[in-house]
Amino acid sequence: MDQIAAIIVAAGRGTRAGAGLPKQWRSVAGRPVLDWTLQAFRRAGLTQLVVVIHPDDRARAGALLAPGEMLVEGGAERVASVRAALEALAPAPPAQVLIHDGARPLVSAQVIADVRAALADAPAAAPALPVVDALWRGTSGEVQGTAPRDGLFRAQTPQGFDFAAILRAHRTHSGPAADDVEIARAAGLRVAITPGCEDNFKLTYPADFARAERLLTERHAMDIRLGNGYDVHRFGEGAGCWLCGVLVPHSRALQGHSDADVGMHALTDAIYGALAEGDIGQHFPPSDPQWKGAASEIFLRHAVDLAAQKGYRIANCDVTLVCEMPKIGPHAKAMQARLAQIMTLAPERVSVKATTSERLGFTGREEGIAALATACLIADGKVDA
Ligand code: MG
Repeated sequence: MDQIAAIIVAAGRGTRAGAGLPKQWRSVAGRPVLDWTLQAFRRAGLTQLVVVIHPDDRARAGALLAPGEMLVEGGAERVASVRAALEALAPAPPAQVLIHDGARPLVSAQVIADVRAALADAPAAAPALPVVDALWRGTSGEVQGTAPRDGLFRAQTPQGFDFAAILRAHRTHSGPAADDVEIARAAGLRVAITPGCEDNFKLTYPADFARAERLLTERHAMDIRLGNGYDVHRFGEGAGCWLCGVLVPHSRALQGHSDADVGMHALTDAIYGALAEGDIGQHFPPSDPQWKGAASEIFLRHAVDLAAQKGYRIANCDVTLVCEMPKIGPHAKAMQARLAQIMTLAPERVSVKATTSERLGFTGREEGIAALATACLIADGKVDA
């Protein structure tokens, strides 16, 4: 038995959110609200989850559970639902329990962690935000008076408790209660206040769903992919080297099947790498004569287009050229501008720099040029992974 369990209360039939399914079952950002809520607790490291549901929802709730998680049928009121879950845990009691509204899918790992930390020193702890707006009393659309807001908080969940203490409090409680903190306080428990979060709101009205959709989509877009690329080309006969799309004057040229733009090749491979899509040789086989002497921007554009197709945009990239000669410094700005143009990125997202290898190795002997590149890709939020 884990030291801490979480009860997710999702038995309500809430209709204020508009017609259709109860709010915890409505789809937001491609998944039921309750599914997001369960994920939030799993991501925060909770493994013992008890989901309190309406008896009609048993089948659809079962589909969301991970192994070891439990369904409990709730009652007509929230108090009865929480009580049922506590009683279900009672035979093998955890040391502590978190009780959370199923319709708060945006609860952060930090909010959960703060409640857990506070339970080390208090029998109960819950997140809340201080009231910052002025408070009025009003009826019929008219202000009738004001009220001081000092010391007032907006309560959130998860509310955390010593398990035995909250079970005892629920067993002796009668009548309605706004939340479990009210029940705990009625039993004489001290309740610590931990930091709440504006995003940890309870989906209640139709507009809340649009807000949750936006926030969850943004979080989903935090799917970040990193790739690296490395390439080498040797010097040979010729005048000038194509490097990152710029023809740099030099007494020799780089040899290769295409224009031998070693920097652009490394960068292209970094993008393919971030997509787990192989490398340039796989997409543009050197055995295919149509790529002989090809401008390497064809390869780079292909990688960028492939990223877009797969739902990614390039957040930034960084290319390092390794050579003694030609000197890269005077051309670095032009290379940055050219790569940014090819990738349709702002230049600030493209870095080109260079180093020598202290006259060591093949680059030090000026036999060729090496290049390394890193690319960071972010899911653009339009694609549902
Ligand atoms: Mg190459």
